[in-house]
Amino acid sequence: MLVTADLLLREAINSDYAIGAFNISNREFLVAIILAAKEASSPLIIQASESTVKFLGFDYLSHLIKFADKFSENIPIVFHLDHSRKLEIILGAIKAGFTSIMYDGSHLPFDENVATTREIVKIAKAVGIPVEGEIGRIGGVEEHIKVREDEVIYTEVEDAIKFYELTGVTSLAIAIGTAHGMQKKNAKINFQRLEEIHSKLPDVPLVLHGSSGVPKEDIKRAIQLGIKKVNIATELKMAMADGIKRALSNGTIEPRDYLTEGIENVKREVLNNIDILGSAGRV
Ligand SMILES: [Zn+2]
Repeated sequence: MLVTADLLLREAINSDYAIGAFNISNREFLVAIILAAKEASSPLIIQASESTVKFLGFDYLSHLIKFADKFSENIPIVFHLDHSRKLEIILGAIKAGFTSIMYDGSHLPFDENVATTREIVKIAKAVGIPVEGEIGRIGGVEEHIKVREDEVIYTEVEDAIKFYELTGVTSLAIAIGTAHGMQKKNAKINFQRLEEIHSKLPDVPLVLHGSSGVPKEDIKRAIQLGIKKVNIATELKMAMADGIKRALSNGTIEPRDYLTEGIENVKREVLNNIDILGSAGRV
């Protein structure tokens, strides 16, 4: 059952769990994620990046969204556009049926980030779609854009407050030490910064990007300090690749067989994450 992100995040903000936001590259990821959501009775967010939008196209995505709406039955799910920088993609996503979008202006100077994000919020809110904004700069590689370690900018507390008040975003992605695309769990979260931001903006769902690099216990601690949406991409890609590799090494060339192995592996990974986030049974 498709819902908008503000609905799920508002419920999470009054409780002690977070919503997992799982990236898809194709239908197989979508099926795996929804199967896990149904098994755990967990609300969740399914998200597609601009690269996935280019790969699948809006026409196909609009069918996939209708399928997700039906296939999820009574489990509330959100279809979210991840890290978008282009207005045409945002408009295309809204038209295709996405129920949440992220506009990422974190590469821009503060004032420009505020101005462009505010415009996007105005457009999206007019049709009831909530917007996630980003302030600070998260490291790693996202959408072929590499942010080097020396370019990472931790979110300043005052900036976060001003950005939230001036833009009207629903949720806020902050840079607190994580990086995109990490395959090892050795990211160090700046908990003090997170705590400061959360204490100033207690009702704002904060978003953690790059969670694949964060140890399980640190994710749990971050949730207690205001993180309400946790993005998970790299771990799922690794799970899909591992499942397919295992099936292929057994000699099969049948896509229905090796993709099924991939789906099962991704589903298991989503269930692990739901367990860490504490979102099972929150329907
Ligand atoms: Zn991200």
